[in-house]
Amino acid sequence: MKRLVLLGASGSIGKQTIDVVRAHPQDYCLRAVSVGRNIAALREILQEFTLDLVCVGREEDAAEIRAAYPGITVCSGDEGLKVLASCDGYDVLVNALVGFAGLAPTVAAMESGHDVALANKETLVVGGELIDKLKKEKGVRIYPIDSEHSAIDQCLRCGSHAEVSRLIITASGGSFRNRTREELKDVTVEEALAHPNWSMGAKITIDSATMMNKGFEVIEAHWLFDMPYEKIDVLMHDESVIHSMVEFTDHAVIAQLGVPDMRIPIQYALSQPARLPLDEAERLDLAKIGTLHFHAPDTERYPLLALAYETGRRGGILPAVMNAANEEANLAFRNHKIGFTEIEDIVINAVYLTEQKPAETLEDLREADHLGREYARKYIESRESAE
Ligand code: MG
Repeated sequence: MKRLVLLGASGSIGKQTIDVVRAHPQDYCLRAVSVGRNIAALREILQEFTLDLVCVGREEDAAEIRAAYPGITVCSGDEGLKVLASCDGYDVLVNALVGFAGLAPTVAAMESGHDVALANKETLVVGGELIDKLKKEKGVRIYPIDSEHSAIDQCLRCGSHAEVSRLIITASGGSFRNRTREELKDVTVEEALAHPNWSMGAKITIDSATMMNKGFEVIEAHWLFDMPYEKIDVLMHDESVIHSMVEFTDHAVIAQLGVPDMRIPIQYALSQPARLPLDEAERLDLAKIGTLHFHAPDTERYPLLALAYETGRRGGILPAVMNAANEEANLAFRNHKIGFTEIEDIVINAVYLTEQKPAETLEDLREADHLGREYARKYIESRESAE
């Protein structure tokens, strides 16, 4: 029986993690969960599962839950997330938080000797160097939940690290893949939120449309699999059936395929190297699909993909700045404050205007995060006052 602490329980990955726990009550149980503001979702979880430790985003919500459930320890905010991540009596932290907020709890879990099943890719984008050091120091593991990295993890079982010649991360291209750059100027938030293949949270769906998400996944792969950037390729693949591939030194290529369903990588992250049945997941029917399509990515069409490669290579505080500017720009677009292509302008300029520094501690990364957000907020404010 694996005991899980689940951060971000009311989001898309959080709910699907609970589906996996529900499907395997003999194998998994919840030790503690966190939600942000979705108190209704937390109440539903507490109806179904017996928990004695939870965390919510705001202290006023914590007081409400304490009053309703006197036997439960309820904490709140960033400090609360750290309490859950470093608590006793659990085996794996499932980090399904969105954004920079996911970094500190990952660090807290690793420092207290816990393995992490990671859906929060920003943890590795921002703090890859720090996380890599902790992994070695503490002897803990990181299991990827991101579908591409889960695919690569599965493919890597076919050979040794020295036998790998290339990781091939597939990309759907997001909601605007059939539009030219010219046509991107006036796209709406609603259009951007309609991903062709995957049903995901709002932030990551916008990141998919800009391909910032794919850029983040390149950096994530670099740290997860200890692979230099020149050995990580991105391949456009319309149907999201091949979730990623690994090419070995003999040029044999191993791919992992399946119907797009995040429960598969979530469950594999928890069960690996073993596999459990997942009867609810649809079976892949290639005869029905008939044809799969591929093409090379166009980095002029998707400048944030090129930026991520470059920023990943430069390292230091720049990946954290890139992430922070992107979080702010992504949110501003969703709040109808900026246009779609301005997300790119903000992120690119934030990186180029920042003076490079090393980032060795969580505190360095917090400062870098602050810098990136400041730049983005100033841009967004100046635009608002100009209107
Ligand atoms: Mg992914």
